[in-house]
Amino acid sequence: MSWHHVTLIGLLLVSSPIRAQWLQTQWDVMGTRATLEFWQDSAAEFVDADTHPVTTAIKTEFSRINATYSPWVENSELYRVNANASQSAQPVSEEFQYLINTSGDYYRLTDGAFDITFASVGHLYDYRNGKAPDTEQLKQTLPSIGFDRIALHDGRVQFTVAGTRIDLGGIAKGHAIDRAVAILRQYGIAHAYISLGGDSFVLGDRRGRDWQVGIRHPRDAQAVAMRLPVANLAVSTSGDYERYFIRDGERIHHIINPGNGKSSHGLVSVTVIAARGIDADALSTSVFVMGTQKGLAMINAMPGVSAVLISAEGKVFYSDDLSPPSP
Ligand code: AMP
Ligand code: MG
Repeated sequence: MSWHHVTLIGLLLVSSPIRAQWLQTQWDVMGTRATLEFWQDSAAEFVDADTHPVTTAIKTEFSRINATYSPWVENSELYRVNANASQSAQPVSEEFQYLINTSGDYYRLTDGAFDITFASVGHLYDYRNGKAPDTEQLKQTLPSIGFDRIALHDGRVQFTVAGTRIDLGGIAKGHAIDRAVAILRQYGIAHAYISLGGDSFVLGDRRGRDWQVGIRHPRDAQAVAMRLPVANLAVSTSGDYERYFIRDGERIHHIINPGNGKSSHGLVSVTVIAARGIDADALSTSVFVMGTQKGLAMINAMPGVSAVLISAEGKVFYSDDLSPPSP
């Protein structure tokens, strides 16, 4: 995964200048940028976001999730599973089971487009150093891909095939967002925006107005492709610009088609809006791999879920419930 290489923020928050009681802060975590903005009620106790206990609680939670599920942190739970689960069943936490089981739900829903075992091949990519698996390596590692290679029983996970690895990079940030929203609510905060790279959640409204979440222009980090008004929803964008290198004119990036072990082409940006971060996150990665037709058909069949897709040609596609903006 890859958290460590992600540098660009997939979503830009577009809003008017922050008023006195809006507190705002940013920090780097999970290989990307976190942004937190929240409304503090009139009895303004805290002058800046960093001294507010809700910020500390969210920072601690994001760091915990990174330390647990990063494939690169040598003593992470996920690292231990990848190193040992082909030999023996590994006990995993309830949260880890929830992430694996939710990934399994999406594997089935997407006909295998969303597959955390893509990492059996995915670990051979090194985007910073321009490395991708060659034909021989693909041939050797592709048989280790397949969510059905994971056996999860009684809180223990085992891989039934040698060489299988998992990576939760397509779902963990959305889960982290859900955890942040739960923490914000615990602290009695009713109006907030939280983002982690391309995953975000808008809690409440912007005190009488909608929050406007901007979708980044896929080929211009400074430009906003479009704005969407949202409230109490999760927004997740998957883009081929997050981690990539160009070889022989081909963009080799971090969203992998589990069928052939190669970067998925056709779409360049997929934004999904859903009630929960974990669902928006898994679905944005899924639709990216499934493509326009299959992806939109799936989203249109899901009540309360919307999507905006941008193709390699720059064409924009919307789910049925979103009417295109007037020209
Ligand atoms: P996102 O930005 O949410 O689309 O997540 C991209 C990340 O998801 C990648 O960096 C990988 O860690 C992971 N990933 C890539 N391809 C897949 C796939 N086919 N299924 C599940 N996760 C994937
Ligand atoms: Mg995703």
